[in-house]
Amino acid sequence: MSRPTRVAFVSLGCAKNLVDSEKMLGQLAEAGCHITADESQADVVVVNTCGFLSAARDEALETISGVVELKKTHRLRRVVVAGCLVQRDGESLLGQVDGVDALVGVNNREDVVRAVLAGGEKRRKRRQRADLHLGDYYPRVDDDTARLRITPRHYAYLRIGEGCDQKCTFCTIPSIRGPMHCKPPQAIVAEARELVSDGAVEINLIGQDTTSYGLDIGYEPGLAGLLRQLDSVDGISWLRLMYAYPSIFSDEMIDAMADCERVVKYVDLPLQHVNDRVLKAMHRRVDRASTERLLERIRQRIPGVSMRTTMIVGFPGETDAEFDELVEFVRAFKFDALGVFAYSLEPDTPAGRMKGQLPDDVKEQRVEALMLAQQEVAFSLADGRVGQTLDVLVEGPPQEGLVPARHQGQAPEVDSVTWLETRGSAAGQLEEDALAPGSLVAVRCTGRRDYDLTAVPTTLALPVIR
Ligand code: SF4
Repeated sequence: MSRPTRVAFVSLGCAKNLVDSEKMLGQLAEAGCHITADESQADVVVVNTCGFLSAARDEALETISGVVELKKTHRLRRVVVAGCLVQRDGESLLGQVDGVDALVGVNNREDVVRAVLAGGEKRRKRRQRADLHLGDYYPRVDDDTARLRITPRHYAYLRIGEGCDQKCTFCTIPSIRGPMHCKPPQAIVAEARELVSDGAVEINLIGQDTTSYGLDIGYEPGLAGLLRQLDSVDGISWLRLMYAYPSIFSDEMIDAMADCERVVKYVDLPLQHVNDRVLKAMHRRVDRASTERLLERIRQRIPGVSMRTTMIVGFPGETDAEFDELVEFVRAFKFDALGVFAYSLEPDTPAGRMKGQLPDDVKEQRVEALMLAQQEVAFSLADGRVGQTLDVLVEGPPQEGLVPARHQGQAPEVDSVTWLETRGSAAGQLEEDALAPGSLVAVRCTGRRDYDLTAVPTTLALPVIR
């Protein structure tokens, strides 16, 4: 009896790619593969790549080269590369890095088992072609059930749609993931129930543009209707909306977020810029005035809402005055969290062909200046929370006596955390159980550590919303 194939998996990029990784892991486990976290013990390593920015390409190529090295020193006999970089570069990827045995495109996920289990012996000669699973261009609605989850049990990502129809001039994602294609609402509700039965109490709704949910499948209630459906799924304590798009964020969606008990008071709304000329050049379909009206409506309708956004600095032609306007806006509006990216010239995008490309040092200076402005905002907002009582979700075991947790305004992996000061061993088992990962606990905020909060539990365990 030959032993099961040992497979290690490297998942790069965003939460949508992570869902693909979890799905492929589920298929490999179902096919009898033994999943190992130790690449040096693996027969096959799968690298699920990100490819939407040049920096992501560099990271992917470096990771793949590192894995291929293992062939020389360990039992590793096969390297399978999947994901967005494969979709973007296709077969030409084989010319950029040596030692790859198979390529799996984003729409050929189902082929990962064949790609992993093919061709036992190590590739000997350079001319031996890699196996290509690249065929399907037009994306179909993915069935993301039966995943082998990589996230901690207590939270999960639920992808409600893939692809995008927005066509921002700097973005390669539509050319990689195709036009928007959403899952039917009943499939999403079923997937949410599966994730809950697998231990998730927090469900993070993701997509490239979640606010366009349902447009391509004629689901008229749209995102608002979906939120109200998911609000009836027992076992979800926190339902979080991520990757919203400003131009179509309707009052119905805001009302649904305000009305639904399980929907957390949190909005992730990438704005990318605020200056009218730059927004137009980015093809963002909004201007400053409509952006400000939307943000005010959300704050009025959802008191205490936490808002996260992302901004791109150094877009072609961005003048000092336009950048200063962005900094002044960030200072004035006070986002709870802000991601800042230097514009990345992607040759196969309209913005990549624009005049007025800025030098890297100017972009880096602007990233730093905007991050500094946001730091002042974030620190003062955090200081303003001292003394507040918050509901937090315990994230993991204690680290140096402090238990990591998140309040509703802190999304997993991208935002700050709340460190719980515990009484440690003096408190005994009761506290330890009550502060187990995935527990919901009421705490009083006691202070700030950089961007993070510190807090003490006020009650040991909160009732979970059933
Ligand atoms: S909304 Fe714009 S930035 Fe986001 S995925 Fe779509 S095209 Fe890209």
